[in-house]
Amino acid sequence: MPYGNMGKVAEVDLSTGRIEELELSPEVYRDYVGGTGLAARLIYERGDLEAGPLSPSNMLVLAAGPLTGVGFSGSSRMSAAARSPLTEIWGQATCGGNFGPELKRCGYDALLIKGRASEPVYLILEGESVRLAPAGDLWGKDTYHTTDLLKERHGKQYRVLAVGPAAENGVLFGSIVNDYGHHFGRTGMGTVMASKNLKAIVARGNREIPVKDPAKLEELKQKYDALLEKNGMARALRAFGTACNMEGMMALGDVPTRNWAKGLWEEGAERLSGVSLDDHYIVGHRSCRGCAVRCKPVIRVEEERYRVEEGPGPEYETLGAFGTLLMNDNLAAVCKINELCNRLGMDTITCGATIAWAMDCYEAGLMSPSDWDGVELRFGDIEPVIDLIPKIARREGKLGELLSMGSRKASAVVGEESRRFLTDTKGLEAPMHDPRAYWGDGLAYAISVRGACHVSNLTYLAEWGIVRYPEIKMDRHYHGMSTEHKADMVAKATDLGCLFNSMVWCQFAGTTFTLPLLRDVFNAAADYGWDIEEMVKAGGRIWYLQRALCHIWGVDASDDVLGPRIMTPTSDGNIAGIIPDMETMLREFYELRGLRTDGKPTREVLREYGLEYLADRLGV
Ligand code: SF4
Repeated sequence: MPYGNMGKVAEVDLSTGRIEELELSPEVYRDYVGGTGLAARLIYERGDLEAGPLSPSNMLVLAAGPLTGVGFSGSSRMSAAARSPLTEIWGQATCGGNFGPELKRCGYDALLIKGRASEPVYLILEGESVRLAPAGDLWGKDTYHTTDLLKERHGKQYRVLAVGPAAENGVLFGSIVNDYGHHFGRTGMGTVMASKNLKAIVARGNREIPVKDPAKLEELKQKYDALLEKNGMARALRAFGTACNMEGMMALGDVPTRNWAKGLWEEGAERLSGVSLDDHYIVGHRSCRGCAVRCKPVIRVEEERYRVEEGPGPEYETLGAFGTLLMNDNLAAVCKINELCNRLGMDTITCGATIAWAMDCYEAGLMSPSDWDGVELRFGDIEPVIDLIPKIARREGKLGELLSMGSRKASAVVGEESRRFLTDTKGLEAPMHDPRAYWGDGLAYAISVRGACHVSNLTYLAEWGIVRYPEIKMDRHYHGMSTEHKADMVAKATDLGCLFNSMVWCQFAGTTFTLPLLRDVFNAAADYGWDIEEMVKAGGRIWYLQRALCHIWGVDASDDVLGPRIMTPTSDGNIAGIIPDMETMLREFYELRGLRTDGKPTREVLREYGLEYLADRLGV
């Protein structure tokens, strides 16, 4: 068993109640690393690929990686993966916080969850025992309340993953929440968990995580934390959270506004920024376990209508999704909505983006209040949105039901004309970074295996000039509005993103690292003796495998596109009149990555990455 791992996974069949320990081969650990890479391999090998996303046979994998819990800043993360109910293809999300390290301290690298319990249950990991307990009394309770009750029952030191009412009710973008403030947000992993009648997982372990060279790891940790202490980006994240540079990003055209129809809203960005959050509502800062960055703002809001007791504050993505996207500059209202979504267990990006899409539909006369429960949604009017959030979570009324599907599925109900307001790729709504300002992001969204996503790759960090890796020739000045070198950069940035999500390491903390440092950390923890080229290649192997799963679930080259609204130019701001040249970037990317015109990898490229076993299945 390779160092950095615990050497076994637990497979839980909720239909039968059977819990089995499995030992994986060293080759599986090495080739698929952990996190989303290991999850992809386990789902391919042991899952039912014919199963629909909400079928009991759809396997949900919660996986840590070789860096999870080794005590480094950014190394508390773990991944969740399954076929997504929102997109019906590869779904994945990663989460910081506390649960990943605790899972390993219980002796497991991953949990494989399949079947469906006849009644609500929760899973208890204690020492090395794994057992199920009834959760009828927890069902219907929000994620904070559920976490409170489970910590009261088992002890404060127990770490909790919980789903909320949204996932229980079948909202397609239900999240899994860890200890109040950390989320597996995207692609509906909470909905898959709730569809199995699994309300929560609690864990408390006492095992040491075996690493190859503890002294070396400690030395590197000291060096890395000293770098973080001085690093400007890390300091800004610590002071203001992930919205630390919203005004600057708005000036560059990177912040989607008015459902991506506007290119500039300076006053809005100013009122919604991390600095504004700090001025009005931040009362403290928290971190994921052991992280020196501490990018998690703690807020309190005292205005009556928007009251939030002391707790997790909104991240940049939420400030965009319920702020600029809706033309709402009421920061207190965003804080309130953030708390509602956290408690109800919903992804704020898909939720806000779906509401923004609906606002455009109302404005264009495609939806009217008389047909949709008497509710009118208008840009700049946040009050009806606050009332609507619990209705979406309950799928209440025609409008709550419509919006609970996410924007792409909702557009099939409202009609073809409403598709022009969509911002998704492969069914996942784009996050809050605009590919019209940074074309590499456009390519990265288009080829991302889970749909439009900025954290499956490091593209936006490279285009901003925050990360540079000379060892793999990813160190140019990448001009945002250009195709030059973008295919090459996005390929490398995607391989690194897959590696991060498999090790599992946080991108925000990782902005200070160099590849030699990452190699040294990895080899001190996991002992593969890898050089940088081998590490990056492992990321590539994971991307090809996840893309293959997407092909098995029906994806082809025609899905590698940006949403129509993103491919429509704005008339203002730094991006006025501009759309990315997707044709050129995609052509170059396909050639570079050995993809056929139908989007599938060639047999030769599969062989090069040790994935030839996929060739017959893909028919290549
Ligand atoms: S940088 Fe922020 S999100 Fe990342 S591990 Fe540290 S505290 Fe968590």
